[in-house]
Order: sequence, then structure tokens, then C-alpha cells
Amino acid sequence: MCIGSFLNVVIWRVPLGKSIVSPPSACPGCGKEIEPIDNIPVLSYLLLKGKCRNCSMTISPKYPITELVTGVLFGLAALQTGYSTAFINYAVLISLMITVVRTDLEQYIILDEVSIGGAAAGVLLALLPGGTDILTSLITAVAGAGFFLLIRLGASYYLKRKNIRTEAPEGYEDEEDEFQGGMGWGDIKLAACIGAFLGPASTVIAFFTAFILGALSGGAMMVFKGRKGRTPIPFGPFMAAGALLALFFGEPLWNAYMNLLV
Ligand SMILES: [Zn+2]
Repeated sequence: MCIGSFLNVVIWRVPLGKSIVSPPSACPGCGKEIEPIDNIPVLSYLLLKGKCRNCSMTISPKYPITELVTGVLFGLAALQTGYSTAFINYAVLISLMITVVRTDLEQYIILDEVSIGGAAAGVLLALLPGGTDILTSLITAVAGAGFFLLIRLGASYYLKRKNIRTEAPEGYEDEEDEFQGGMGWGDIKLAACIGAFLGPASTVIAFFTAFILGALSGGAMMVFKGRKGRTPIPFGPFMAAGALLALFFGEPLWNAYMNLLV
């Protein structure tokens, strides 16, 4: 949960180009520094009833939720890996994916520190015993990014030929071109990161799961919210969910997909 608390800081500060170590956390409402007693993951939020002690500004529940989800996933990881170096792989990938979900949902961005930095971390962690080897990790990273690049090129070619323009989300007028290819560059770089951590078999499961989740919620949004098919929805959270599902349930998922196909 403490790592989750740190991820909150990363998600808030890194996109703004601010340091993640100083200054200490402060209330965005009144600017008062947050005392250590009010900075305990999850617990402080509950004790403060979701309000700043000084100015009573409401604290978003996304902060304690991020802390709780991180803690729970780390716990599940420990149950699966036991006392082995595989836990490091799990913990790092979980942290990266939680950051992706938050930044992509809130700001339509996937930080390079997470995607490219994460890919480098995944390749290096392949040196630890028990997982994929470093060459496999590297090749899967490149193949993963290549696959998403192909989707982007294909989709952008198709959209241009049919003269379809998707609407960029609000506040992104300048970068409208980013949204004309189905997949953003952030998704392509994220695919490299996921590939580096999971290796070939689990990466295939992760991407397949991501597309299923994306299609399901895209359809659900059109039905329930009347959302038009041309408004882009960020794909990063689906990739992150696919990666974590493949990490935890790779084998049962693979068997389920095989059963569907055969
Ligand atoms: Zn305050």
C-alpha cells in the first residue's frame, strides 16, 4: 500500500515535470504540507473521512483505491510466487500497469518512463533466475511493439482511405493526428513493456484479452452511454488489465481461449 501511495505521487507529478522526491506532499487546496500521521495509506483517508484536516477539501477516493489495489495485487502476487525472485517481476509489472491505468484514463497519456523505462526494466529483470531469458524478453518486446505498430499503420491507412476522422478528446486539438490511427504511440511503447515482462506465450494471452475487454466495453459504452463509435477511448487500461490477467491467470485463460476455438 505504501508503494501505491508512491504511485499516486508519480501519477500526479511526473506528467507535470515535477520532482517525485521534493517538495513533500501538500494539500492542493490549501497548500499545507501533509503530516506523516495523515499520510498512512488507506487508513488516513478513512480517519480523515476523505477531507483535508486543514481546509476540509474533499480528497478523491482514487488515492486510497490506488493504494488498496496495489496492496491487494502485491498480496496475490506473493501468494503465487512465494519467496522467490519472481515476486520482483510481479511487483514491478503491477506497479507499472496501475500507473498506466490512472494516467491513461485521467489524461490520455502513458508515460515514457513507464512504457520505455518499463520495457528496459522487464528486459533487465529477465536476468533473474526462473523467468524468461533476456533474449526472449527482448525479442518479445520488439515483436509486441511491432504488432501494435502494424495495427496503427493499418488503421490509419483505412481511416484515410475512407476519409474518416476520429474526434480527439477534449483539450487535445493540437495533437489530433495522434488519434487518427486507432493506436497511440503510447500503446505501441506499452506493448514493448508488456512483452518484455511476460515473454511470448503470456503476451499473446495479454493482447488477446485486452482486445476482448476493449471490444466489450466499447460496445457497452455505445449501448448505455450512446457514445459514438468515433470517439476514441484510451486502450492502455485494457492492455494493463490484459497484462495482469495474463500474469495471474495465464494458463487457465489460455485453456479457455483454446476451448472456445476448438
Ligand atoms: Zn487543505
